[in-house]
Amino acid sequence: MPTRPVRTPDEAGFWEGADQHQLVIQRCDSCGLRRHPPVPMCAGCGSVTARYEAVSGRGRVMSSILSRHPNASDETPSVIVLVELDEGVRLVSNLMDAGSPPFEDMAVEADFLHTEGAVLPVFRPAVARTG
Ligand SMILES: [Zn+2]
Repeated sequence: MPTRPVRTPDEAGFWEGADQHQLVIQRCDSCGLRRHPPVPMCAGCGSVTARYEAVSGRGRVMSSILSRHPNASDETPSVIVLVELDEGVRLVSNLMDAGSPPFEDMAVEADFLHTEGAVLPVFRPAVARTG
């Protein structure tokens, strides 16, 4: 079971999006740079105004680890992944229902997991699309 997130004021928009089952990424109002995790000031231009924009939720696994609880037995370890979204932003998340490693370069899409007290953005293997 993924760990419940701590909501900071800077990240509130991200988690409000997740509550609505939308993956949203912070974007600078001045230069348009997308950034994650959310931060109060743009690293590109120094602006302190930003908004959240919905993204496709599709991307590829760049890297992964199997995470086992250090002192309580897990039936199955959590798969922690670094995903690069189609929009070019990278984020760390959980990969669900993906079988066995390796996961690198796997096409994935966002989903939302309801846990006690939080809705967590997670990723699953992408469903092949036709047409
Ligand atoms: Zn900027």
